[in-house]
Amino acid sequence: MSFFTAFLDLLFPKKCVFCARVLNSSNEGWCNKCKVSLPFAENYGRQSGEIFDFCIAPLYYTDVVRHSILRYKFRDSSYYAPVYAKLLAQCIKDCPDLNYDIISWVPLSKEREHKRGYDQALLLAEATASILDNEVTATLIKSRDAGAQSELGDKEQRSKNISGAYTAADPNNIKNKHVLLIDDIITTGSTLDECAKVLLDAGAQSVVCAVLARGR
Ligand SMILES: [Zn+2]
Repeated sequence: MSFFTAFLDLLFPKKCVFCARVLNSSNEGWCNKCKVSLPFAENYGRQSGEIFDFCIAPLYYTDVVRHSILRYKFRDSSYYAPVYAKLLAQCIKDCPDLNYDIISWVPLSKEREHKRGYDQALLLAEATASILDNEVTATLIKSRDAGAQSELGDKEQRSKNISGAYTAADPNNIKNKHVLLIDDIITTGSTLDECAKVLLDAGAQSVVCAVLARGR
């Protein structure tokens, strides 16, 4: 470590992306305590969708994970993405029956991306794809800002709200492909089902999903 980096670390100590404890230089983005005590999901956090085949997730969306993801989305913490990606890529590698040709993501609307400064699902997908020696393919466009799904109650309300919000990008990239769709979280699955519907309508063979965290 150069004197300059050491000096910077002293001024701006690196913190665990999950619990925000100050890290020493050997920790890569998350602390030793979180490595053993995060709410890791069982059975790859696997759940079925109505339209997508299934979704896997390394973590449950509780406590420290929830707070971390909220900081990632709303407090200019785009540098969390490579740390999250390590967990997500490992979950994808370990899952025995997850097959895909292309990796894509659930995009924000251009307006929302501009406001936030980054598209958090795209950053997560890019960092994950890079670990898997792959790259991302744009398959979806969010043409209508549907408002926050999190402010709506049940699955029926959420499905109605999100219906028609996405359109397919270039169908040549989608046709006959097995798509792995990446997002940050899954709650009712309405958003991922809507995206899967658009992709299947555009000719995709199958859609599986991988997210960082799911509800318990
Ligand atoms: Zn931690």
